[in-house]
Amino acid sequence: MRTTVAALHAELVRYDLVAWTAGNVSGRVPGEDLFVIKPSGVSYDELTPENMVVCDLDGNLVEGAHAPSSDTAAHAYVYRHMPEVGGVVHTHSTYASAWAARGEPIPCVLTAMADEFGGEIPVGPFALIGDDSIGQGIVATLAGHRSPAVLMQNHGVFTIGKDPKAAVKAAVMCEDVARTVHVARQLGEPLPIKPEHVDRLYDRYQNVYGQRSPR
Ligand SMILES: [Zn+2]
Repeated sequence: MRTTVAALHAELVRYDLVAWTAGNVSGRVPGEDLFVIKPSGVSYDELTPENMVVCDLDGNLVEGAHAPSSDTAAHAYVYRHMPEVGGVVHTHSTYASAWAARGEPIPCVLTAMADEFGGEIPVGPFALIGDDSIGQGIVATLAGHRSPAVLMQNHGVFTIGKDPKAAVKAAVMCEDVARTVHVARQLGEPLPIKPEHVDRLYDRYQNVYGQRSPR
């Protein structure tokens, strides 16, 4: 899991989802009440399996020479309250965070959104770092949605997956649709997709490809 989580951070860079060190990936250790997360403040090209940090589900450091990411409490809260989740990603990716800055959900106006998110990408509450409020906001918002992504108001994106790779994919797709819907908005009002069509697209994509939603 250290190897997987370290390597997946390169995808955040490759897809231009992060500036400086503002983004992180974590992965639950199978069969253990532990997860692996990025060390705080270490640049992406310096990440190795060895300098990843292992925490328990309360966010306490269990193993590692570095302090864990400052978002560790939020990741830990998600793992504690969503046992089906095996990976969590956080970014401030540009277009998705612009929707978050307005507190506006991204409407489901693309078939790729219906496939991956099963509807709109919802907005979670404004929350300050430092306690469980970000984690609570993520879990409370995603509990009522098929979406594996939530836009935390005035902040950025958190995504979940059955494993860390699925959560990274959701973060990449979230930014992609945020950008496209933003561009569409510049020229008019995007057309909604009927709920029954959203359901059919979601069902087909999640089943045909065997990439079952984590929930
Ligand atoms: Zn953040």
